[in-house]
Amino acid sequence: MPIQTSTVLKSRASRTQPFLALGCLLAACTLPAATFAADNPGAHEHGHARLQLAIEKNSIDLMLTSPAYNLAGFEHEARTNEERNRLAEIKQWLNTTPLVNVDDASCRITAAAVELGGEDTDDTHGHDHHGDDEKASHREYDVSQQLQCQGMGANREFRSALMEKFENLEELTVEWVSQSGQGSARLTPSNRAFTVSH
Ligand SMILES: [Zn+2]
Repeated sequence: MPIQTSTVLKSRASRTQPFLALGCLLAACTLPAATFAADNPGAHEHGHARLQLAIEKNSIDLMLTSPAYNLAGFEHEARTNEERNRLAEIKQWLNTTPLVNVDDASCRITAAAVELGGEDTDDTHGHDHHGDDEKASHREYDVSQQLQCQGMGANREFRSALMEKFENLEELTVEWVSQSGQGSARLTPSNRAFTVSH
């Protein structure tokens, strides 16, 4: 089945409440998703990123919010072919690699959307000064994926390919809600796994 861009995830209401919209994809918004939405929505700290998961049976809706620096190594507009290729490669990877997976790698992407904040908002062609202005100096990735995983029993251990792929990523905060509750974990290069009981 071809990967399709999810219009549902793309049309979420606002940047500051991504997980509220994400949670509402699940049955009747019964999960306590709003808990996460109010938690420091504007944080942008290089080296740190946040991954939010909504887990229901064999389905996972996830959202990654990360400074572009963590993935690309820069946040300005791509100026060289090398930089453009780098962004294209990252986008391709984010569209095709499940950001979490179980040991037997049974999770598959059924929908994905990748946005690089600030990408198309300013037309700076013809501008003379090359200093990044305040608005353009920081950019973030917003990545949504829907996954289908086989055999999601209780207490499944997950890993995130992000920690292996991107060496600028020093700490990944993972937060999840499932039908049995919510939890969180902090992944680092030396601690790449987390366990969800559900
Ligand atoms: Zn930044």
